[in-house]
Amino acid sequence: EQLANQIAAGEVVERPSSVVKELVENAVDAGSTRVDVTIEEGGLQLIRVADNGSGIEGDDVETAFLRHATSKIATSKDLFAIRTLGFRGEALPSIAAVSKLSCTTSARTDGLGRRIVIEGGTVREIADAAAERGTDIAVRELFYNTPARLKYMKSIQTELGHVSDYLYRLAIAHPHIAFTLKHNGHTLLQTLGSGDGRQALAAIYGTALAKQLVEVSGESIDYKLSGWIAKPEVTRANRGGITVIVNGRYIRNYALNQALLQGYHTLLPINRFPVAALRIEMDPVLVDVNVHPSKLEVRFSKEAELMELIEHSVRNALGNQVL
Ligand code: ADP
Ligand code: MG
Repeated sequence: EQLANQIAAGEVVERPSSVVKELVENAVDAGSTRVDVTIEEGGLQLIRVADNGSGIEGDDVETAFLRHATSKIATSKDLFAIRTLGFRGEALPSIAAVSKLSCTTSARTDGLGRRIVIEGGTVREIADAAAERGTDIAVRELFYNTPARLKYMKSIQTELGHVSDYLYRLAIAHPHIAFTLKHNGHTLLQTLGSGDGRQALAAIYGTALAKQLVEVSGESIDYKLSGWIAKPEVTRANRGGITVIVNGRYIRNYALNQALLQGYHTLLPINRFPVAALRIEMDPVLVDVNVHPSKLEVRFSKEAELMELIEHSVRNALGNQVL
């Protein structure tokens, strides 16, 4: 069982950013309005995610950390049909198998909760504890018991880059949630959770950006598009400032980025790239997860229609500005 957890962990937990992803997605699923992420040494020393969401009921704390105890749905095909981000009940046991994890959580409002400590998959402590409603999970010394995996970790800056990149996208996808990210005591991200997507973008890419954002919107038979793109006053040297969100979920899709750039580059220099956030709403049957769900890559059954919509809407939004 411990070995099974370590093997499963290899799939789910590739590096510190995968831990951040799983913990933060759980916090989002729990209906949190605040999510505070604290990491040390790129996450290799500490990853702590504290939220004010629903918390875990006392009796459910242990099962949450057992393998496959909570599987919500059967196949990855169902992934987009539901709105929660988690789907297999594999994350917590996998993380606990390859770290020293402690979790304090409460689903109540009377200050009572529960605390569990797990080291390398072995429960060391489980007891009642004082806790506000919400969940606070600390993951220390990731991969301390899997040296082969630890050896593959890159520099602290690289690991931190993966963490912050992921958290930026999530903050853009969830403007109603106030996110913070601290690394070695420095605050790298602080969003207000106001619900205004522009504010989230400004928190990430700089306040000067907010005034340069143009609204993008459009609709086709199957897709509804909304979002923001920065005017040419603010450009970037690469595609890293582009975020695409499908039914509330941040995804990666090369074709959609290309469509956006087609629209952008008909009006603007081709060696510069925009900051943009596009939100697409659609019937979940039209999107398919064709690889490992945690890799964020998806395929659309009516891709041409969607590309056309994006290109057209982006050109429209900027055309009104440029001309
Ligand atoms: P999954 O998210 O796929 O269900 P996880 O292993 O990530 O599986 O989490 C197991 C379960 O623990 C979740 O289904 C949820 O019920 C509970 N849980 C985990 N994290 C939180 C959290 N931050 N707040 C409330 N419940 C949580
Ligand atoms: Mg989960």
